[in-house]
Amino acid sequence: MIATASKADLLDLLPEELAGFLRRLDQPAYRARQLFSWLHRGASFEDMTDLPKSLRVRLAELAQPGTLEPRLQETAPDGATRFVLRAPDGELIESVLILHARRTTVCVSSQIGCAFRCRFCATGQQGLVRDLTAGEIVEQVVRLQQAAHPTRVTNIVFMGMGEPLANYDAVLKAVRLLNHPDGINIGARHIAISTCGLPKGIRRLAAEGLQVALAISLHAATDDVRDQLVPVNRKHPLSEVIAAAGVYAQRTGRKVSFQYVVLPGLNDTPEQARRLVTLTRGLPCMVNVIPQNMLDGVTPTDDRAARNFAGILRARGLPVAVRRSRGAEVLGACGQLRADASRRTGPPGHDKAGRADARPAKAR
Ligand code: SF4
Repeated sequence: MIATASKADLLDLLPEELAGFLRRLDQPAYRARQLFSWLHRGASFEDMTDLPKSLRVRLAELAQPGTLEPRLQETAPDGATRFVLRAPDGELIESVLILHARRTTVCVSSQIGCAFRCRFCATGQQGLVRDLTAGEIVEQVVRLQQAAHPTRVTNIVFMGMGEPLANYDAVLKAVRLLNHPDGINIGARHIAISTCGLPKGIRRLAAEGLQVALAISLHAATDDVRDQLVPVNRKHPLSEVIAAAGVYAQRTGRKVSFQYVVLPGLNDTPEQARRLVTLTRGLPCMVNVIPQNMLDGVTPTDDRAARNFAGILRARGLPVAVRRSRGAEVLGACGQLRADASRRTGPPGHDKAGRADARPAKAR
């Protein structure tokens, strides 16, 4: 739990943990439900008017209703809004709010930086700084829900900074908090966890009894190509990842989605398409083919290359969709989230300048 001056971050606590905290303050059990509900609506202690004043004063002495401070909010022409939130230790956390016609999605970060260094990922270029707490993950959704009001957040995707399955316990706790009926109450089927392909984590998630959607960043259909793009493939080759995906689909009854960023001439050849169809045969799945976003030294893929590759897969019977990641204009799209040093020191709203030298790159 990250909290300033030893004050507990109450957004980090499950209802039963909150009840234990309040019990130590001689409060009745029903107060936990009231407090949990207020916290997940982003209320300050002052706002919690159905709690006794004396309790609100005590809470303010001992705890915090979240720890993140808004630093930046920027909306792209396509309507995706990138938020930068500052943690008490000065680290910056990026999240994206995406409004669709029939759903509103929040893309959350699970770590500051990432240890996996995928080739086209800005977050990976940072290296891992630290894991986020469950409270910091939940607070991203709480803050973005406040910003989206009166529109209600309907979906959450763990596709921001970091590898969610490398911060497994905090991510799972956040899922349970976000899923709770007294809080934000997003159904597990509307929560997606994206991974670069960690078989142990995938199998562990499969055994949780949750209906969370699983998205695997595949990006290649052979180990020689995937080794170049997703370095963890050298440790966990495609055969292991696909086997774990099969377990996930079988245990949860859900289709697995594979993310496939098209890099022309490298992973979009007819041979890669043929191998991808063979690799996924018999697995309940679909493939999201994604044009590459802007990235240092890499020309963004035009939609035609992605459509062509998707067409080959479709012709071979693989369920496929072409998806353009939203938010690219504010570096909030897939592959672009990275709270870099210029953003860290600059005042809120300075990002237009920072954007010029920002080096995007994460592709999930
Ligand atoms: S794509 Fe995901 S796993 Fe790979 S470096 Fe980026 S954040 Fe980490």
